[in-house]
Amino acid sequence: MANNNQKIPYKIYLSENEIPASWYNVRADMKNKPAPLLNPGTLQPMTAEELSAVFCEDLVAQELDNEHAYIPIPQEIRDFYKMYRPSPLVRAYCLEEKLQTPAHIYYKFEGNNTSGSHKLNSAVPQAYYAKKQGLKGVTTETGAGQWGTALSMACSYFGLDCKVYMVKVSYEQKPFRREVMRTYGASVVPSPSDTTNVGRKILEQFPGTTGSLGCAISEAVEVAVSNPGYRYVLGSVLNQVLLHQSVIGVETKTAMDKYGIKPDIIIGCAGGGSNLGGLISPFMGQKLRGEADYQFIAVEPASCPSLTRGKFAYDFCDTGLVCPMAKRYTLGSGFIPAPTHAGGLRYHGMSSILSQLYHDGYMEARAVEQTKVFEAAEQFARVEGILPAPESSHAIRVAIDEAMKCKETGEEKTILFGLTGTGYFDMVAYEKFHDGLMTDYIPTDEDLQKGFDGIPKIDL
Ligand SMILES: *Cc1c(COP(=O)(O)O)cnc(C)c1O
Repeated sequence: MANNNQKIPYKIYLSENEIPASWYNVRADMKNKPAPLLNPGTLQPMTAEELSAVFCEDLVAQELDNEHAYIPIPQEIRDFYKMYRPSPLVRAYCLEEKLQTPAHIYYKFEGNNTSGSHKLNSAVPQAYYAKKQGLKGVTTETGAGQWGTALSMACSYFGLDCKVYMVKVSYEQKPFRREVMRTYGASVVPSPSDTTNVGRKILEQFPGTTGSLGCAISEAVEVAVSNPGYRYVLGSVLNQVLLHQSVIGVETKTAMDKYGIKPDIIIGCAGGGSNLGGLISPFMGQKLRGEADYQFIAVEPASCPSLTRGKFAYDFCDTGLVCPMAKRYTLGSGFIPAPTHAGGLRYHGMSSILSQLYHDGYMEARAVEQTKVFEAAEQFARVEGILPAPESSHAIRVAIDEAMKCKETGEEKTILFGLTGTGYFDMVAYEKFHDGLMTDYIPTDEDLQKGFDGIPKIDL
């Protein structure tokens, strides 16, 4: 190992005082702003007033704010962050050694809290602002269960009721996730359910469906707008969530700057895009302002390839078509992906911010197959001592691929990736992998066309 490497510790910790005082809003530095949410009835941009029927007021302001680069983090939120942040930035010396690569690999680990993922970073502000507004409770959907867990933790801390619609396939595969949520006082309903109009309609149309995030969203929104004192909150995709997740990137950049490290490649898995968007935000800001250059890579499952094979268009956000329309890379709100084991990456659409950045050529995207992802997960677990979530392992896959390219070329690139969480609740998936029962599912063009056919034909 080169001498200068030895100065960098395995784990770069920041102190409590170095928890960022502000979130960084990358939209402020984007020349082409993400397209606004549209009212599906009038096709006009959603006003703050309209959005306030569904979301908390402060969060609506953050959703619509394309101007302010820095948004202060209230002290109450920083106090909660102190329980599990700053999260460590790890130099993957052991993985480098194992791969025999000249590349320097770093990962920012967001799995060191009970929710087991980065989702708590946004659950805390969302619950805080709901409480501040005097609401009784919030409703939401959850896929793999990480978001529901994070939200129930935040709601119990701030004293809010929490109703979670959980995608049925996960509800059945991950009963322990459900119990964690109930431990924090949340009520959990498998979706689609017969507790909402939209759920009953979907059950009638597709009996035996394993559900999807798009469908669970419709149910959660319906319950929020029909119960006074309730609002709907969402764990990814929205601008406000990506903003909250910038805490990951700002901490990472502070830690790297301390040691004079500059990443060449920054990699993250992309479900709705909030973790990746949050990790890259301050670096992307530099790129947008022309101060520095980085290669950004979004990694998605081959079974749900919204960036690599989707369309950049205005589309509905949910299956029941109750939400505003958003312009982003999408597979169509009717697309129900094969039940992959990375539940957190099964959403049909990508964040409007990341979609715009990708469309404008600031970011790349790659789709990877499930078995290859688990090979990388196992390789990583065996040397780095962390059992990664299947979602996070998408980023590990591409980080290893890039490190192996460096081995061929002899380049000493610095690779940074987001390790979004741990995989303790994903052992059914690991079991399938170990027993050789895991398959790769890649939708055909025909399969995708069915989803595209449901994208509204408006020219905007
Ligand atoms: C939800 C989740 C993801 C996907 O995150 P997005 O911000 O929606 O892209 C990735 N990893 C883990 C562990 C998750 O829980």
